[in-house]
Amino acid sequence: MTSDLPQFINPLCLAKTRESIVGKIQLNSLARVKIVLLDEKGELKYCLNFSFDKTGVCIIECEIETQLILECQRCFKPLEFDVRNNSLLGIVVRGEVFEALAKEYEPLELNDDGVTTVEELIEEELLLSIPLSVLHPLDKCAGTNDLDRINAEAKVQPFAVLAALIKGKD
Ligand SMILES: [Zn+2]
Repeated sequence: MTSDLPQFINPLCLAKTRESIVGKIQLNSLARVKIVLLDEKGELKYCLNFSFDKTGVCIIECEIETQLILECQRCFKPLEFDVRNNSLLGIVVRGEVFEALAKEYEPLELNDDGVTTVEELIEEELLLSIPLSVLHPLDKCAGTNDLDRINAEAKVQPFAVLAALIKGKD
């Protein structure tokens, strides 16, 4: 399934029949992630598995894999950053408390119609997997002289914007 259109999904329905969705998303279609990319080319592969746990909570196993071109915070040159992330999301029905959810799940709240989009879900997971600061290894970084180091320290941390972009982390 590859599409640029938002794919609306109903996790509770998909979990009843233990569906899986496998697909690809172009990185340039993820508006919030794009802000921190030096190069928007490339795509992300994902796999979503829907089911219910023993206590009846709807869960989504979410696997994402991609390579991002980020900016090294020391030399400000491109840095290839591999993302390979597995996470377990637990669906929270609106109005219920997050605390009721088992600790190993990341809470995912659905809208009133019980739907979300694949893009929104994937983008949130991708944002969470990008570190707030990335650096080349010292022997491969162009910014190891004193002047660059001073500039690096003086420069405003651009990835601070990430923290604000991640939902519920304000
Ligand atoms: Zn560097």
